[in-house]
Amino acid sequence: MEKIVALCKRRGFVFASSEIYGGLGSTYDYGHYGVLLKTNVKNEWWRAMVQERDDIVALDSAILQHPRTWEASGHLAGFTDPMVDCRTCGQRFRADHLPDLQCPQKPSKPPGDGPNCDLTEARDFNLMFETTMGPVKDSGATVYLRPETAQGIFVNFKNVLQFSRKKPPFGIAQVGKSFRNEITPGNFVFRTREFEQMEMEFFVPPDEAPRWYDFWKGARYDWYVELGIREDHLRLREHDSDELSHYSSATADVEYLFPMGWSELEGIANRGDFDLKQHTEFSGQKLEYFDGQTGERYVPHVVEPAAGADRAMLAFLVDAYDEDEIGGEQRTVLKLHPRLAPVKVAVLPHLRKDGLPEAAQEIYAALRGRMQSEYDEGGSIGKRYRRQDEIGTPYCVTVDHQSREDGTVTLRDRDTLEQERVTIDGLAHDLAARLAREWRSPKGTGAQA
Ligand code: ATP
Repeated sequence: MEKIVALCKRRGFVFASSEIYGGLGSTYDYGHYGVLLKTNVKNEWWRAMVQERDDIVALDSAILQHPRTWEASGHLAGFTDPMVDCRTCGQRFRADHLPDLQCPQKPSKPPGDGPNCDLTEARDFNLMFETTMGPVKDSGATVYLRPETAQGIFVNFKNVLQFSRKKPPFGIAQVGKSFRNEITPGNFVFRTREFEQMEMEFFVPPDEAPRWYDFWKGARYDWYVELGIREDHLRLREHDSDELSHYSSATADVEYLFPMGWSELEGIANRGDFDLKQHTEFSGQKLEYFDGQTGERYVPHVVEPAAGADRAMLAFLVDAYDEDEIGGEQRTVLKLHPRLAPVKVAVLPHLRKDGLPEAAQEIYAALRGRMQSEYDEGGSIGKRYRRQDEIGTPYCVTVDHQSREDGTVTLRDRDTLEQERVTIDGLAHDLAARLAREWRSPKGTGAQA
């Protein structure tokens, strides 16, 4: 993980937020390549959820919602983690994570096991961030930064049903920021206090819920595989009955083998009719489906795949990170799926003279409207290849003297290191076709663990 963090900082993917003031407890800022990569992750999610289906519609609800939302959802009363304080060092820890944490004074031991540890009893700590709406600081104006995007979907069920002309089974998808005052954030962007979620609520006739639960478990697992995650680093884990939330009849996690061990990437839950019924009770508005043809009226059940954009991005980065040797020189390379790679192609003049930069600029200008491209003329060609490998650029195009004679360039493949001569005329088309091809990690796949 240190290597990933160092690469992210070195190449401006992700850095600590408000760094000049010493950073702010586990919040992060995304730089150029980080923004491009995370945007690609979100776009792939939109593609799978909305573009390639005709039964899911998009939504973007507000981060600040009526406080009754969080009473109805149960977050106000129950969105808590157990917390302990250490009377010696003054630090707080998540009581259920103690074995995985380090005592600040004796890092080889978990909190509680160090010689001077003096832990309090566990207490419940609500993870919602509170703020005040409007100029009057009284209790009536207390609002919360949403701890999940899902509730914004449930409270809009009626609106969407009315305007989308959909009937169950149908889904509502949303991507956006969520906030949780995590007691022990950590592992870089894996657990932060401000993060992005990609959530979809799929509303189904009650008797179809088990079938759709199985469907979404499979579909979500496959999404990560199609985007190149190695299958021996990915698994679906069904929750034991004692892990289930009170409203959920079944939940499974897609887990990735991160450097710190198997950890949740995404949860798929069969939530029953809990959410719509709660909001009906608290709002007084009927949230149900009426089938005009059959005269049937029912509260749909909900199957929810809920993923984290930052966490998925981290998994793609960890899975892609590789170090190998070319001609006795070490190279760091991100073997990212071409569709996720922040930059698709770099155009490089072989030399900074003889009209090569101008010719390369012309090619760059023609490509950049089609795909995220970069132009680089600084340093030796080997150094420029390394620079692109490090950010995961799948293709480099080199313009040399021959290019001016026969209208061809060298196309270098990041993974195979093969170099071919291709025509400048067909380049954009050729690259688009290569980028659209099925891709599997050259780091090798294995059977599901
Ligand atoms: P965890 O058990 O890791 O706290 P959770 O089960 O509470 O996660 P959900 O409420 O199911 O998480 O949220 C759905 C997804 O949102 C998670 O699978 C994860 O990818 C992402 N997510 C949740 N909390 C965080 C966080 N603090 N930082 C980054 N991503 C998060």
